[in-house]
Amino acid sequence: MRLAEEGMLCSLCRKRAVISQRYLGRQLCQDHFVRDFEGRMVQSIERGRMIEEGERIAVAVSGGKDSTALLFALSRAFAEREVELVAVTVDEGIAGYRDDTILAAERIARQLGIEQVIVSFREEYGYDLDEMVVGSELAPCTHCGVFRKSSLNRAAKRLGAAKLATGHNQDDEAQSVMMNYLKGDIERLMRFRPRREQPGLVPRIKPLRDLPEKEIALYAILNGIYFESRECPYAQLALRADVRDMMNRMESLFPGTRQRTLRGFERIEALCKEGWGQMELAECRECGEPCVGERCKACELLGRLRR
Ligand code: SF4
Repeated sequence: MRLAEEGMLCSLCRKRAVISQRYLGRQLCQDHFVRDFEGRMVQSIERGRMIEEGERIAVAVSGGKDSTALLFALSRAFAEREVELVAVTVDEGIAGYRDDTILAAERIARQLGIEQVIVSFREEYGYDLDEMVVGSELAPCTHCGVFRKSSLNRAAKRLGAAKLATGHNQDDEAQSVMMNYLKGDIERLMRFRPRREQPGLVPRIKPLRDLPEKEIALYAILNGIYFESRECPYAQLALRADVRDMMNRMESLFPGTRQRTLRGFERIEALCKEGWGQMELAECRECGEPCVGERCKACELLGRLRR
């Protein structure tokens, strides 16, 4: 994979370029790209004070390219530091899709010598995702998102992790902001901000949030860790698929659209800080997980399933 045209040269050393970063007005060769990628991730970590010395970090690793690249880049960035990484893989129970990615997640954790734990919806909640969605009026991704978040939080707590790192990239983040604008869901948009610490909730960090998906794929390929996974069979049913197509088109016509969408949201968020305080979370009366109100979303969905 090369994201630069034939004949393009690195803006820094004049070697053959592997990528043209139109939104930054430059091209980079393989060495400069890999160094720049890891540097930008570390910058995001430092700017957001995401990781402190001595912490144990749970890293959500699905086996897809983003989370694989995240684990790889973190293990390099913190190789000389007192930071312990543990990979957490969630098996949602999606037939014909998850098995391959779980194997890929096991492979990368083994290659890097990082402990891995696998948690499944079936063990945690008694159902596979495929069973949960039969006859449900809710989109599969709604179930998946709720139970995945909850599974990861529970696993990170059991592991005594200080933070939970996820492989969300710039594309995911810009899509989420845009989806909330399109739905007019300002509550959810404001909940998208990094949360301050709340009891029972392991703080989430997104070290790749400033890096475009294509660059993450290129980083994974250049480091020999890329795994081409099939698309989830439920993906096309989600609004996100349409928003992703629209944002990709906008980015190609107007380079930097995603970055500006995120920067714009950060400005709105700063302006709203005063009037839009963070909600206090309570303990779910059924499972004890943190939630807004009396019952968490996972217990609410489980209640519907058992009816
Ligand atoms: Fe889950 Fe939806 Fe992603 Fe499939 S596309 S893994 S159902 S969130």
